[in-house]
Amino acid sequence: MVSVKCPVCGGEVQLPDDVIAGEIVEHDCGVTLEVIVDDNNTVKVKPFEGVSEDWGE
Ligand SMILES: [Zn+2]
Repeated sequence: MVSVKCPVCGGEVQLPDDVIAGEIVEHDCGVTLEVIVDDNNTVKVKPFEGVSEDWGE
């Protein structure tokens, strides 16, 4: 289990160890979060804006 901090409410967000970037999770406070993994393999979350990003085809 990986735990990160919710950027909205500051509370703890529990993620599975095998979480992948781009995964969408909902936090207890009601916000929808997108999982991101930075270059150091650090898992973070950011508020999901609800737009599907174009990754290129
Ligand atoms: Zn929250």
